[in-house]
Amino acid sequence: MCAVAGRVSGTVGMSGAGCRAARQDVPGRHAQNGVVGSADQLTVTVTFAGSGDAFGSGGRFQACIHLRPDSAAPVLLDCGATSLTALKRRGLDPGEVSVVFVSHLHGDHFGGLPFLVLDGQFCGRADPLTVVGPPGTTARLHAAMECMFPGSSAARREFAIRVTELAPGSTLQAAGVEAAAWAADHPSGAPALCLRLTVGGKVIGYTGDTAWTGFLAQVAAGADLLIAEAYYRDKPVPYHLRLADLERHRDELASRRIILTHLSADMLNEQDQHNYETASDGLALRI
Ligand SMILES: [Zn+2]
Ligand SMILES: [Zn+2]
Repeated sequence: MCAVAGRVSGTVGMSGAGCRAARQDVPGRHAQNGVVGSADQLTVTVTFAGSGDAFGSGGRFQACIHLRPDSAAPVLLDCGATSLTALKRRGLDPGEVSVVFVSHLHGDHFGGLPFLVLDGQFCGRADPLTVVGPPGTTARLHAAMECMFPGSSAARREFAIRVTELAPGSTLQAAGVEAAAWAADHPSGAPALCLRLTVGGKVIGYTGDTAWTGFLAQVAAGADLLIAEAYYRDKPVPYHLRLADLERHRDELASRRIILTHLSADMLNEQDQHNYETASDGLALRI
């Protein structure tokens, strides 16, 4: 182990204990118990490890959606700064995650990657970890790791980290998951993406953070599930989706199901005033 890793050894000792304790957190079992759906149709389990905004509204963890196909390793949609804790809280093993698909390079969507990498390093991860994110992800992940844990980007690890940058308008395959990306309207120092994943035979659209864009119709078209930001109900907020936007364009969103996420405190307080399904931390469903 290099000197760099030694520099974060205070964290390491705690991480070691965290590896062993990962499956002991009781709330994790709630996700399993809370599964909704009919058993003979189940293919992918979608667990909202984090369904919150950047600011902890409602005490929620930041964006992190865990997708587990029946016969393949799970993948993540976004990995906000709080996500390692969020996964462990739900009893979801971070070491199993094969790919993290990142919608954009804001801390509440990618800031958990350094923790995920270091957790893998100190928990003896052997399988490669792939990160798929917008152009700029390689440099921003390197910078984030060096900012939070100086020297960590060059530390020796027993597993490979593969970063693949996905430009808006492109598609790629990673660990058996097909990803398509469109340009989101959300400045984050790099292009932001709306994503559409085909995983375990199911199609999941994800708006990420974005102002309304006509691309969302393509993200949603025929999808089994659309996970849509609904930051506010109708308050004008630049570069974010509001419930009013979704309602206005409802006919263009041809997914089988829509679940709202990334809710502000205002939206959380108004949940009884609309008929949309909303995510919450620990919500698990099968599609
Ligand atoms: Zn966000
Ligand atoms: Zn954002």
